[in-house]
Amino acid sequence: MTAEIENNLKDYIKTLSTYTSTEEGVTRVVYSEEDEHAKHYIKQKMFDLQLEITEDEIGNIFGIWKGTNPSLKSFWTGSHIDAPTHGGKYDGVVGVISALEAIHHLKQEGMQPERDIVVVVFAAEEPTKFGIGCLGSKVLTGKVEKEELKNFRDSNGHSLDEILKKAGKKIDEIPYQKLQPERIHSFLELHIEQGPILERKNIDIGIVDVIAAPTEMNVIIYGEQRHAGSTPMDERKDPYPAAAEAALALEELTKSVSSSSVGTIGNISVTPGTSNVIPSHVEFSVDIRDTTTVKKDKIVTCLLEKIRDITSARGLTYSYTIQSNDTPSKMDEQGVEKLKNLCEKLGYKSYVMNSGAYHDAMVLASCVRANLLFVPSYKGISHAPSEHTDIIHLIKGTKVLIDYMKTECFNQA
Ligand SMILES: [Zn+2]
Repeated sequence: MTAEIENNLKDYIKTLSTYTSTEEGVTRVVYSEEDEHAKHYIKQKMFDLQLEITEDEIGNIFGIWKGTNPSLKSFWTGSHIDAPTHGGKYDGVVGVISALEAIHHLKQEGMQPERDIVVVVFAAEEPTKFGIGCLGSKVLTGKVEKEELKNFRDSNGHSLDEILKKAGKKIDEIPYQKLQPERIHSFLELHIEQGPILERKNIDIGIVDVIAAPTEMNVIIYGEQRHAGSTPMDERKDPYPAAAEAALALEELTKSVSSSSVGTIGNISVTPGTSNVIPSHVEFSVDIRDTTTVKKDKIVTCLLEKIRDITSARGLTYSYTIQSNDTPSKMDEQGVEKLKNLCEKLGYKSYVMNSGAYHDAMVLASCVRANLLFVPSYKGISHAPSEHTDIIHLIKGTKVLIDYMKTECFNQA
């Protein structure tokens, strides 16, 4: 059985990695030609497995293995197949292909589930196109308003409406809150860790108990544009050193609040951006994540106080906008226990941990019982061409999924 799972998983990874717009790494942005090809390939595989296939108007795909007892709630599993610019072959893909391979394996064993098993491929998990992560799962769970969607534009100024039309879809037909939580038993997502912990500890399977959520802000510090040569140092209102101080303050704060806190300034622009001009203003992004809202809010509040103090001491002004403020998600505790036991029975080393990166499971957890499993990432690298997970770990992840399906979806009487 293992050899066949290994070959099939390798085939999936190899084929999907060819649907890319760049030669270096995998670039598969949602609604692009490559994304449509990859979706077509997955739907073909679902067809081969005789799953009932549907796709909604935002582009989420569902492959359903019908259960024998329609009164039972359905079990959901899956992830995403879009990839960021020069990303890797494994992010998201692993959760989709392991689910399909698990079904293939169970079908070969001649098994028939009692409850429906739904393999879901969420659209636009990566924020590459519209700057918002988990778009597909957020639409499915009613977390994004219809009017909000109409304002979405990509970096070329094309609206979501225009882009969907090209793909033969209509924004007005997007089924808001299509997901019926009362009809769902639970959701389990398998994903690569995207960090170094499992590999470092020599662990096979990470079982996530809480997913950290981001608060994303945009901050502008205003100074006075002057000549860089003729303005004495003590007469300047230079916003850049203030932004640098803010970056150091963020680093200090996240280190002092808790070991799970992280803070990043990933984008900064200096205006007018000329070497011989003191800038008029500096604009930067702030991404703060933690596993509890209390700790995260504390960092946000303290950072804003620091920025207020830094700018006032330097005679500058500032403004900020909070672009998103997601809530950290606790994974289903019962599910965590069940997964721990399954790993033990299979002889796999497991480790309960939190997830610093968000996933569709974070969105689903707001309305259904959700769990998230990790397999190790080579050197912890992800969102990069060298992203890699050893096949042995992919097989182990798939086997845990197979056994979880067996306990949750078969012999429920
Ligand atoms: Zn992912």
